[in-house]
Amino acid sequence: MNLIDSNEKLIPTLKKYFGYDSFRPQQEEIVTSFLAGEDCMVIMPTGGGKSICFQLPALLFEGLTLVISPLIALMKDQVDGLKANGISASFFNSSQSTDEHQKILEQVANKELRLLYVAPESLSYLEVVLNNENLSAIAIDEAHCISAWGHDFRPSYQMLGYLKKKLPKVPIIALTATADKATRQDIVEQLGIPKAKQFITSFDRQNIYLEVRPADDRIKQIERFLKKRTTESGIVYCLSRKATETLANKLNNIGYNAKAYHAGLSFDERSKVQEDFVYDKTQIVCATIAFGMGIDKSNVRWIIHYNLPKNIEGYYQEIGRSGRDGLKARALLFHSYGDVIQLRKFMVGAGNEELQIAKLERMKQFAEATTCRRKILLSYFGETLEENCGKCDVCDNPPSFFDGTIIAQKALSTIARLKESEATGMIIDVLRGAQNAAVMEKGYQTIKTYGIGKDVSWKYWQHYIIMLINQGYSEIAYQENNALKLTALSKKVLFERYKVNLNHPPEIDKIKVAVPKKEGKLQRRETNGLFERLRILRKNIALEENIPAYLVFSDAVLTDMEKELPKTDNELLSISGVGQRKMEVYGEEFLREIAQFVKEQKKKPKKKSTFQVTLEMFQNGLSISDICEERELQETTVYSHIAKLYVEGAEIPIHDFVSQEEVKQIKEAQKALSNPEALKPYFEFFEEKMPYHKIRLGLSVINKETT
Ligand code: ADP
Ligand code: MG
Repeated sequence: MNLIDSNEKLIPTLKKYFGYDSFRPQQEEIVTSFLAGEDCMVIMPTGGGKSICFQLPALLFEGLTLVISPLIALMKDQVDGLKANGISASFFNSSQSTDEHQKILEQVANKELRLLYVAPESLSYLEVVLNNENLSAIAIDEAHCISAWGHDFRPSYQMLGYLKKKLPKVPIIALTATADKATRQDIVEQLGIPKAKQFITSFDRQNIYLEVRPADDRIKQIERFLKKRTTESGIVYCLSRKATETLANKLNNIGYNAKAYHAGLSFDERSKVQEDFVYDKTQIVCATIAFGMGIDKSNVRWIIHYNLPKNIEGYYQEIGRSGRDGLKARALLFHSYGDVIQLRKFMVGAGNEELQIAKLERMKQFAEATTCRRKILLSYFGETLEENCGKCDVCDNPPSFFDGTIIAQKALSTIARLKESEATGMIIDVLRGAQNAAVMEKGYQTIKTYGIGKDVSWKYWQHYIIMLINQGYSEIAYQENNALKLTALSKKVLFERYKVNLNHPPEIDKIKVAVPKKEGKLQRRETNGLFERLRILRKNIALEENIPAYLVFSDAVLTDMEKELPKTDNELLSISGVGQRKMEVYGEEFLREIAQFVKEQKKKPKKKSTFQVTLEMFQNGLSISDICEERELQETTVYSHIAKLYVEGAEIPIHDFVSQEEVKQIKEAQKALSNPEALKPYFEFFEEKMPYHKIRLGLSVINKETT
């Protein structure tokens, strides 16, 4: 097929086979280049949508697309997924018999297959069919496995260089979620595709909500977290084998279906845990880091890090395993200083100790951040996010900031004057006019900014500089003794008076105030019960067909069905993720279930108000923070419910929240301020010492007394 024809076919083919109406960012460019015969190197975050980049071209190339994939255990799922979409595909690996192998070779020779998955170890058995006549394209998934620089080196990947030598005309596409430059370079060189067109997509996975909590009483916190997620799949990452087992046991004891997964289990045991998880037979896996690569299960709804991960790359890959379907997912990290010490201990004496420790330091900074966490993550991957994300705990509950532009200018100009060659410690020494030997030896006392930050303590400077790094105003160069560098943004601060917001180190910000944030909040999944019914239907079908449930339809498809209530085949087809084959095979059953639901709905009374829901939970003994968590609401919102309910006469022990004495003070403030509309004047009147919720509730009490 020529290129123009195939370009016109991209979207119809995407819809017909995968059910999607549009491409995700860069997928189209990648697909087009690959179809034109160019070698490609794709860097996309976990869950970003790499598979389409070779699966769609495979449908448009004349011959076979060979897919190299490292995990035998997961090939079957990937092939099942393709088959469920009506695409003829197979896999070839050491788990199969000679007969099966023979059959596949025949299928290839007869040109019956679009895609063939193979592990690198088995490649030599395919020698007979690896020629220009049969083969149109080669995809190398998880391509970082070829590089010893990457985090998951596999020696068998190193023979892949021979593919390009043997078949110079067959285009190769290499795909990975590992972003760093050294690894990327190594991959293209080893594969013999140094001129490969590189595609680096954004690492932003907006549907994943980021949250960090102190690691006090983790089990209890997890228990609470799970209350709302009784059927949702998730993974808890732990540092030790023992922790995975203890935790899995505890979760089983309180009624969850959880399993441990770690390197101490046999291969078979591990495969079983993995399979049960993928097939929705096990809800929760408590795993050491060895779990999850290559699992394409799209309905993993949450990830918990029981311990601090050792670097941001690892953390990001792990949380990326949630929410592949694009629906909201949640990443919760527990942070403790004990973990930091423990991890540091492992690192001491390692070959690249300094680098590892520096990376751990960045992880720690992320966990301790007082600015948008997503900004920090993305700046780590070299991206700048201009606006705060609104989908992390810090955005939802931000500390109070002041204009730190001058402080930032002082620090950044010191970095510039020290020629971007010094680490944080020296920058602070110079700012504070330190007279130690290191400063003197280098003659830094003559630098123009020497001593301009005397009035600020060492500790505060350190905090401010971390904040500057976290916000992308500066970067650490690990390979250059952690020297601080300027960025494009820092130049804006130095030369364009770009405003920088800073806050003080945590301990003086004792009063925590929840600031309501409307925009940017993740869409809450309001369910009317249909989703659950469709989920059960999906599970039954999956059991019958012996494929993972998410391969029947993703959670995203079920959610859309719940919203759209399709009545006809065409309406069903218009849902993203419903392709031709799935409509034909599963359409009838799903449409029937939906119709049945709609019929029953018509007979039912109307649903409860949001205030009523809060009241019922409160009366059932849930605390305010429980309610916030369960309902994914802001504390301010829940308190405003409580206030309204109280005023309307609901039975609320209001003085548990605001004492008589406090009400009196608020009454006085009301008089002094001549009864302002907003709460802020009160907050300021009390010198920020009376939290907003008390003010709000106090006013309700006064309001109720006077009416
Ligand atoms: P990874 O980059 O980790 O290999 P996958 O290829 O497994 O990611 O894709 C992640 C999820 O995104 C899958 O469920 C896939 O079906 C979905 N997806 C990929 N491309 C699109 C698209 N254009 N529209 C909607 N969903 C998509
Ligand atoms: Mg993948």
